[in-house]
Amino acid sequence: MSAEVSPPPVLAMTEVEASYGPFRALFDVSFRIGPGEAIGLLGANGAGKTAVARIAGGLLPPTAGTVVVDGVDMGGENAYKFARAGVAHAPEGRSVFATFTVEENLALSFRRALGRSGVKSGLSRAFEIFPRLGERKSQLAGTLSGGEQRMLSLARVMVEEPRLLIADELSLGLAPIIIEEVYKVLHSIRQAGTSLLVVEQHATHALSLCDRIVVLDHGRVVWEGPSDDALGAIESSLFKG
Ligand code: ATP
Repeated sequence: MSAEVSPPPVLAMTEVEASYGPFRALFDVSFRIGPGEAIGLLGANGAGKTAVARIAGGLLPPTAGTVVVDGVDMGGENAYKFARAGVAHAPEGRSVFATFTVEENLALSFRRALGRSGVKSGLSRAFEIFPRLGERKSQLAGTLSGGEQRMLSLARVMVEEPRLLIADELSLGLAPIIIEEVYKVLHSIRQAGTSLLVVEQHATHALSLCDRIVVLDHGRVVWEGPSDDALGAIESSLFKG
């Protein structure tokens, strides 16, 4: 009888620790994301969610533990190597070049990711997925609404068809109707086969999108399980967010 061989996780963090100078931000953090799986990372302010997201994207080196992408130990690698391995990071906040137009922002990212010849097809794909960005392609990115800027951040990374997309608090400060739109896009990214690490302070949207939830508190994983069970854990005050 042959044992079933499951594919390696897209991302595996094992016993990861992290510090900002003398401040210890993460303790013994372990979790995995399987191919095509969506994991929600929940926790209150300061729980360490962004630290985990930055480590998963190669932006913050862990002080201990391992980060493995598609079976390859990324120890000591930088963000560029993570990107080459198919990890894309859509950071929280307004991460666009404010004085460049929407189209210029996209073209810059696509030239870097896809080469000069990939810019045209990248742009048409981005405008197909985000028609609103197409309507506003000549507008300076700094004058877009918060939700539109979040869409621009997503468009910059998703055209690369990443193996893993890290979405860090994309709903932060957005009106509920815009959050719905951003989450619709995350749903379609997921349907296209990309794994997701969705960092959220508020649980509702992450619960409906994700298969499993990891809850952080004071830099530690305090709960992990299927999304369907997470509400109980949250209500039993393991996590208040
Ligand atoms: P939020 O939801 O408020 O963004 P978070 O869960 O993403 O919070 P992190 O940003 O990962 O939390 O921060 C974890 C801890 O590390 C916090 O206590 C924070 O104050 C601290 N921290 C973050 N960045 C730095 C830094 N550059 N220097 C010192 N401490 C930091």
